[in-house]
Amino acid sequence: MEPRTITVHSGEQTAELEIYPDLGMPTFLQQLDSLHFLPSSSCWFVVDGQRVLLESEEDIDTHLKENTAVWLVSRGAGRASTALIDLYLPNSFAEQFLNIYRRFRFQRSRSPPQSYIRLDRELIQTASDFLMTCKPASLASARDWVPRDIARQMEGHTVKEFLVILLEWFHSSTTFVKTTPCVRCGSVTVSQSNTVQPTEEEKRVGVRNVELHRCQTCHADTRFPRHRDPTAIIANGRRGRCGELSILFTTVCRALGLEARLVTDLNDHIWTEVFDDALGHFVHTDPCENTVDTPLMYEKGWGKTQQLVVAVGMNHCTDVTPRYTEHYERAVSDPRWPRRYVCHVFTSRVGAYVQSRVTINDADQERLATFVRRDLTALRHGALERDDSGEYRPRQSGA
Ligand SMILES: [Zn+2]
Repeated sequence: MEPRTITVHSGEQTAELEIYPDLGMPTFLQQLDSLHFLPSSSCWFVVDGQRVLLESEEDIDTHLKENTAVWLVSRGAGRASTALIDLYLPNSFAEQFLNIYRRFRFQRSRSPPQSYIRLDRELIQTASDFLMTCKPASLASARDWVPRDIARQMEGHTVKEFLVILLEWFHSSTTFVKTTPCVRCGSVTVSQSNTVQPTEEEKRVGVRNVELHRCQTCHADTRFPRHRDPTAIIANGRRGRCGELSILFTTVCRALGLEARLVTDLNDHIWTEVFDDALGHFVHTDPCENTVDTPLMYEKGWGKTQQLVVAVGMNHCTDVTPRYTEHYERAVSDPRWPRRYVCHVFTSRVGAYVQSRVTINDADQERLATFVRRDLTALRHGALERDDSGEYRPRQSGA
C-alpha cells in the first residue's frame, strides 16, 4: 500500500504527513478530524491552483470534480497562521471526499479523544527533552566531559563501531538510579507513585517533576528531581534513569557531531538512535543497558508488546515502530493509540515544533533530510540489518 504525502503548511512551518487512501474513509476522516491544532474558523479549497471558498454544497459540486488536485486551506480569523493541506485524491475518492469535507466543516467534534491528547502530550514532552540536547550550553558541557582519547576514536571506526566504544565509556561513567538512599538514615527506599512540584530553582534548570522515595526503615521521603538539562545531569553526578541517561547520551553524540535523536516507546522507556552513514539508517543505542543495534531486545528480551515507537530528532519526528518489532501488524492495530494515519498528523506537528525552536543552516538541513529519508526507506522496505545473533536478556536497568 503506497502512502500519499501531504504537505501541511502552518504559518512559517511546513510538515509532511502521509495518508493511505487505499485504507478507506474512516481512517482518513479520523486523520482530518485530528487536525484540531489548525485554526478552523473558515475553510477554503484550492482547486487546480485557484482558491475558492466553499460555503455550500452547490459550491462543492461546482468546484470539485474527479481527478483534481485539491488543497484544503483553513485560516483562522484574526490569526496570522494559515494551514494548507495538499490532498491529491484518486478518482474514487472524490465523492467520499465531499462527505469528509462536509463533516469536517460542519460536524467536527469539539474535543479530540483522550488517546489523541495523551499522544500529543507525550510527543511534545519528548520534543522538549530533545531540544535540551541541542542547547549550546548542553553541547559545551558534554564536550568538556567526554575524554579526548574516547572522542579521538571516532576516526578509523564506523559510527556503529564508535558507538560501542563511546557507550562502554558512558555506561561506566554514569549511574542508573532505581531509587535513592534515604536522606535521613541511608536505608533502602521505595518510589511512591505520586510526584511533587519542583522548586523554583529546579524549574529554572528544567525539572518537570520530583519523585518521592519513601524509606523502608524510618519512613522519611527523599526527593528525586528528574533532571532534563544535560548540564544539570552532569552537575548532579551523571545519574538517573532512562530519561536522564538518554538525554545525556544523545547530547554527547550531538556534541561529537553525530546525528542523534531520542526514541520513546511512549510507555516507560526512552533511548537514543544515531545515524550511521555506512549502514544507511539510524542505529538503536540504549544508554541504560549498554547495547548497540539490538532493537528487538525490548520485545524479545524484556517481553514487551510494542505498540508505537517514535523518534524525535532535529527538525523531525518519525514513527520508527517497524525497527522495534517483528509483529508490526499487531502493533498498528493496538487500540491504546490513535490509528497510524492520525499518529502521522501528530508526528508531523512535533517535527514542526522542533523546527520552530532550533535554527540550522541549509546544508545541515539538507544532510539531515537525506538521513531521515534513507532511514524511512530502510524501515519501509524492511531493509534493516538487525544484528540478531546475540542472546536477548531481560531488562537490567529497571523501569
Ligand atoms: Zn530512612
